[in-house]
Amino acid sequence: MPIKVDTEKCTQCGNCETQCPGDLIRMDPETGYPMNAYPDDCWYCAVCEVECQFDALRMVFPTLII
Ligand code: SF4
Ligand code: SF4
Repeated sequence: MPIKVDTEKCTQCGNCETQCPGDLIRMDPETGYPMNAYPDDCWYCAVCEVECQFDALRMVFPTLII
């Protein structure tokens, strides 16, 4: 899951959904918060994190197991 949303900060504005260049983010109809609907297609460009004006979204990098 490449994004993590702080529900205390997120205003559910939908800007991250609009800004993702891959059109990967959707507002979850059950919670109202954004989620990555296609996590395997994320290339960690950080646009969603940078564009959130409320500092509510973080990319989560996959753990490398060596
Ligand atoms: S841009 Fe930030 S505040 Fe707006 S929906 Fe996305 S995570 Fe929430
Ligand atoms: S890191 Fe880039 S590709 Fe991945 S969800 Fe955020 S904006 Fe979209």
